[in-house]
Amino acid sequence: MKVVFVEHPCPVLLLGNEPWSPVRTNTWPQSQMTLAAAIANEHDVSILDLRSLESPADWRRQIGPEYLEPIRYSESILLTRHLIGDCKRISDHPADAFVFTANFTSEANAVVEAIRTAKLSWPEALILVGGSDASPEERHAFYFNAGADYIGVGDGDTALPVFLDQIKKGHRPNERIIRGGSAGVNLLNSNFSLVQKARYVESGGGPIHPGIFRNGGFAVYTEISRGCSRECWFCSARMTDLWSPPIDEVLKHLDHIIDSGCRLLMFSDDNLLLARKTEELVTIFRHIRERRIAWEFPNGLEVGLLIDSKRGGFSKELFETLFWNSESLSFFGAHRLLVPIEDALLHRSALRKLKNVQVQIRGLLERLLDTGIPFLNLAIMIGGVQESRDDRERLEDSLELINRWTHSSKTRVNFSIFCTSPLPGTGLGRAALKSKKRLSHNIEEAPELWTVFASILNGDNFTAEQTTQYRRKLLRRFHMSQDEGKVRS
Ligand code: SF4
Repeated sequence: MKVVFVEHPCPVLLLGNEPWSPVRTNTWPQSQMTLAAAIANEHDVSILDLRSLESPADWRRQIGPEYLEPIRYSESILLTRHLIGDCKRISDHPADAFVFTANFTSEANAVVEAIRTAKLSWPEALILVGGSDASPEERHAFYFNAGADYIGVGDGDTALPVFLDQIKKGHRPNERIIRGGSAGVNLLNSNFSLVQKARYVESGGGPIHPGIFRNGGFAVYTEISRGCSRECWFCSARMTDLWSPPIDEVLKHLDHIIDSGCRLLMFSDDNLLLARKTEELVTIFRHIRERRIAWEFPNGLEVGLLIDSKRGGFSKELFETLFWNSESLSFFGAHRLLVPIEDALLHRSALRKLKNVQVQIRGLLERLLDTGIPFLNLAIMIGGVQESRDDRERLEDSLELINRWTHSSKTRVNFSIFCTSPLPGTGLGRAALKSKKRLSHNIEEAPELWTVFASILNGDNFTAEQTTQYRRKLLRRFHMSQDEGKVRS
């Protein structure tokens, strides 16, 4: 079968002429590469990337016209909806099946636009959709209405080969949900000739140290574990099965990526420190250090697990291995870490835990700054439904303190202030959907607002709009506004 994996266009919300949130076009198509590797032995696979640009700096000129009605976010904020990337290119790519990945609710309409174009261009082709936004039951109707024939739930790299095998044999299942599980997942070598790899020079976490791509190369999202047994009710990875492939498989997988010219590995594991043992992590990160490559943890680490439970204090060997870095002619080693500072354990979003910020965070930040890591993103979720004025005062006091501790460091410390987003499939998302007054907008009409850059949750004390404005005010106060669309190095 001829199977085309589509990376949908990049959605852009504009307020007047300015982007309302960061614009990322040239990020690694991780899902497409992983799924293509899972079926490459049996099928003719290709990747159609509608999103990445030949020249990322050119992004403003590539913004297309409005493709949907504007969103009235508030009385003073009218957002227009645009795409970077042309869906019509799908009509040049015949296929027996198109596979779409809908991981982010905020990008759902861009996926739908691509699905509709595929359906119109190739009416006989199967349309398959997977990803975190398509998986929850409450989102199935949205994607079926858009034209999906089947929706994948769970790990696609186990489900897709079995499903396509049935189709190849002429059996088209009546059940329109394809289920996958972590059992049987292998780390498979991606075929880098499926993409124009030199295009992928962006990180979702922010700017990239100029030394990394001094001699070319590209940035790859990868994972060496999956799953998390924690119960954070806002997170779609909560209570998922832990999977961690054997070390020799991991090392071969990472070597394959590095041998292909990658210079920055971005680990997208759900909860790496929970899923892998300390000695395994030490082996893995020593190995990639020897390969003189840079790495980062854009999804964050559960930093509480850096503490040696027997001796107390940070586990020296693990800490020094994970965050080692060196700036020579080029840069290699630990490049960026996202630290969930709110409670330093990622267990739950509750701003009141910030009262412990001094004891919990100061030691960690001092140790991290000592390593010379170029970028630290400190993640703070705001806009929970019970958030109070006292919570916000405490938050501001804590941010002032952290700013004082860190501002003279050569590490660029950034406050990643996230609005709590009621993602479909999470406990928070389901609770918010039930109580209509909690949501400022309808998910079907404005999925673009299901992002950390804007709030759609009306809390007990603050409206969604007030939370969004508050986030912007905080970022301005600490000179961390991201109004430029693309981040600069
Ligand atoms: S937020 Fe982190 S710790 Fe919590 S469930 Fe999700 S992956 Fe696990």
